[in-house]
Amino acid sequence: MVTSSQHSPQGHRWSDADLVGGHPALDFLNTVADKGKTRMEEKLVQWHDVHTWAAAAGLLAPADLTRFRQQPEWDGADALTALHRFREDAYAAIVHVTSGVGDRRAYDRLAAAIRDAIGRSTFTTFDGRFVWRPDVQTAWRWIDSVALAFEHLMRSEDSGRVRQCGRCTWFFVDRGRGAGRRWCDMRTCGNRAKAEAFRER
Ligand SMILES: [Zn+2]
Repeated sequence: MVTSSQHSPQGHRWSDADLVGGHPALDFLNTVADKGKTRMEEKLVQWHDVHTWAAAAGLLAPADLTRFRQQPEWDGADALTALHRFREDAYAAIVHVTSGVGDRRAYDRLAAAIRDAIGRSTFTTFDGRFVWRPDVQTAWRWIDSVALAFEHLMRSEDSGRVRQCGRCTWFFVDRGRGAGRRWCDMRTCGNRAKAEAFRER
């Protein structure tokens, strides 16, 4: 449940520390600041934040992001609320997919969102390969874009490597070998976990 926000007039300034998911779909789930299992702090406070996040995370091809920005009339308050709701529902779906517990119906809703997104999108060549390009002229366009990112992730080899941080709610693709990555980021959760383990000794 996302209930509070830190908001500056310039919006959130995205950095590498926000983009540790290894895939735009997971980076989208990680657009809440999270120091525990809370999902308390909203980072997509206004549409400007969504636009700058999409650019930083590589959600859309640059040409599509430009098309989105040229028609801002589709980005209303209701659509932003719907995007937040979709993110938290997709979060529940990925918890279910990766852990086998939790809300199976959330997974069904994500599958339906992917089907709807494809229904509104165009299958076409882009940069020499076939892709789904979302319809720009619909209030669903951001949900569709993220749903298509989930479709890409879940059909890829990375889908079996999606892990959740042992400390916060962030997800990431574990591409390492060996024991496996336990934390979203050593600079944040990894160090906090180490410090706690040290104090408990
Ligand atoms: Zn973490």
